[in-house]
Amino acid sequence: MTETHILIIEDEPDLRAGLQHNLELEGFKVLAAANGKEGLRKAREGQAALVLLDLMLPEMSGIEVLQHLRETGHETPVIIISAKGQDRDKVQGLELGADDYLTKPFGLSELLARIRAVLRRTKSGAKAGAGERGAAATVMTFPGLVVDWKRFTVSRDGDEVQLSRYEAEILRMLIEHRGEVVSRQDLLRKVWGYVHLPTTRTVDNHIARLRKKLEADVENPVHVVTVHGLGYRFESELLEER
Ligand code: CA
Repeated sequence: MTETHILIIEDEPDLRAGLQHNLELEGFKVLAAANGKEGLRKAREGQAALVLLDLMLPEMSGIEVLQHLRETGHETPVIIISAKGQDRDKVQGLELGADDYLTKPFGLSELLARIRAVLRRTKSGAKAGAGERGAAATVMTFPGLVVDWKRFTVSRDGDEVQLSRYEAEILRMLIEHRGEVVSRQDLLRKVWGYVHLPTTRTVDNHIARLRKKLEADVENPVHVVTVHGLGYRFESELLEER
């Protein structure tokens, strides 16, 4: 079995050392960073299968680390570990594509459960295109757009971009229900599952990110259209699947 590396970005030395020690006892390989800049650099190296990210960090905040990471196409799963009273940052983190969050102080068993759940989700997510659909299509072609479920990519007129896990799940749900309206609440429930968020704005933000990848003109989307007051609808005709 290959070793799973976890990157801890945490400036508090005792907490960092404690997490490292306990995760190593559980058989993980641990990388550690004491500030945001170092953390971002190590996360970009791509060795870590998962990042534990504190929010209040010297040099660069956890939110900035996450933002830079996602903007440069790194989709490594991230669990935010935040102090009490940072709810707004926590929500922002989830909107930026964090996978889960824990509020300090947390117990080791809780942390391990979250880590394993996220690793399981992201692993099955990467295979879901082929897995859930059985022998069904792994590549779908729409006018001006090719979606590759196996590689988690979309190509718009030949330009290929990577989808984040959330973007891929949203797109999959819209495409499965193409021609029908899918509500924000349905997307929240199905895509985010148990991670409860206070607003459906999260969905809108992810749709906006998805549109940047899918649409030639985000102001006039042709694939994912807004149905005002109801939700979103995938409109394009499926030309080919294989
Ligand atoms: Ca801190």
